[in-house]
Amino acid sequence: MLIYPPGEVYQRGEDRCQINVNASVANALRACNDLGYIASALKNKNFSVFLKDYPAEKLKITDFFNDFKREKPDAIFISTTNGSIFYDLDFIKEIKKINKETVIILKGAIFYNISQEFINNFDFSNVDFLIGAESEFIAPLLIDAIFNKNEEITSIQGIAYKNNNEWEINKLEAFPDNLDDLPFPDRSLMKNSLYINPDTNRPMATITISKGCPFDCIYCLSPVISGKKIRVRSINSIFREISECFSKYNIKDFFFKSDTFTADKNLVTELCNRIIHSELKGKVNWVANSRANTLDEETIIKMKEAGCSMIAIGYESGSDESLLKMKKNISVEDSIRITALIKKHKIKIFGFFLIGFPWETEKHLNLTKELIFKLDTDFIELSIVTPFFGTELYSSIKEKINNKIFGKDSFKYLISSDNYLSEDYLMNFRKEVVLKYHLRFKYIIKKLFNKNLTFQVFLNYVKYGIRLIKNYL
Ligand code: SF4
Repeated sequence: MLIYPPGEVYQRGEDRCQINVNASVANALRACNDLGYIASALKNKNFSVFLKDYPAEKLKITDFFNDFKREKPDAIFISTTNGSIFYDLDFIKEIKKINKETVIILKGAIFYNISQEFINNFDFSNVDFLIGAESEFIAPLLIDAIFNKNEEITSIQGIAYKNNNEWEINKLEAFPDNLDDLPFPDRSLMKNSLYINPDTNRPMATITISKGCPFDCIYCLSPVISGKKIRVRSINSIFREISECFSKYNIKDFFFKSDTFTADKNLVTELCNRIIHSELKGKVNWVANSRANTLDEETIIKMKEAGCSMIAIGYESGSDESLLKMKKNISVEDSIRITALIKKHKIKIFGFFLIGFPWETEKHLNLTKELIFKLDTDFIELSIVTPFFGTELYSSIKEKINNKIFGKDSFKYLISSDNYLSEDYLMNFRKEVVLKYHLRFKYIIKKLFNKNLTFQVFLNYVKYGIRLIKNYL
């Protein structure tokens, strides 16, 4: 069984952000590709596979246990997050009460680069294996080793396993280089209709384009868990996956997943050209991540022609001092310039902002607020920075936060250290900015008089609006 366990809806497949979807402003749930990759690889090795995203299907614990009793799995692979880890461990305890022989493999970015000291923070007595990163490569090898004994478990990199009840850690020595070695995620087992692009109301597939990021943002997990070298898939492989989604599953909307899609201009240009010169031109719609200083007008024009409808940008802050301290390597001026350029070509923008860094005062936050309104992007997310285990931010304040970060997420359960603005201040600031932003007359009119607005998309906007207001009531 490959599952996201019942409970709160986290972006479990997105190791980098692990966002609590319902507590966020406008984030849409992404497909469970991490499970899909493993499903494909295991089916190729003749395992039978059961895959389910329980939270996305709004299923309960009882639904899981009905499936569990019927399927009688030999092993369960569970994707966890920093926010859900304690909840997931309790869930696993219940599984082991029913059948202690079931092998439990728990995967999550927080297990990357773990130590014995880290393990002592948790009760892993009911867990058999931990995987920290690259689970799409590692889990199939591990499962094969457990059940077919083709390889020694002790020789598999990137896992932690038990030896006479003591945890042994096998570090991941190098990131797998050839992403084309991966099969496509098994979308016949994934319920694609659960993962909707709210802007079109159509299923949206996530397509991995590349992994890794050369930048040094101190709060970000990407360079930690995916490396600083950008590893790219071949254009042929990417295009075949897009075409398979289109022809086999009737999927026309895509999220092109890269840590920074536009960090490699050649890759973007080649991929866009491939789409432009294919039968998919004008038939597919996609979104991708970028940053304020890795995008130029020529690339924007190319992306638009190839079907890009929205670019997500991590602006993070309106304070140059804050941007410098977080090693973002952009300036406020860069943010203003790139936003004007993208708007000129009528591509939507999803702006991401962060508050709550240890050095930040009201002054920094007010500059960020000012920038949010000035940029006036189509959608925003204002998160309270989470010092994820493994990041430079975590290391710099770990004594102060004393591991209180585990089990927390960016929106609901904050941490505080002596240096922080208070939790109440940050939460109230976020609430004020987010509500004010979305309840502007100009913003509502712009959304309602969009010429592409269908009734169903209108309903999606209403749904997100209600979610937003509900979160603050
Ligand atoms: S640019 Fe910064 S925030 Fe974006 S993926 Fe790279 S390190 Fe992370």
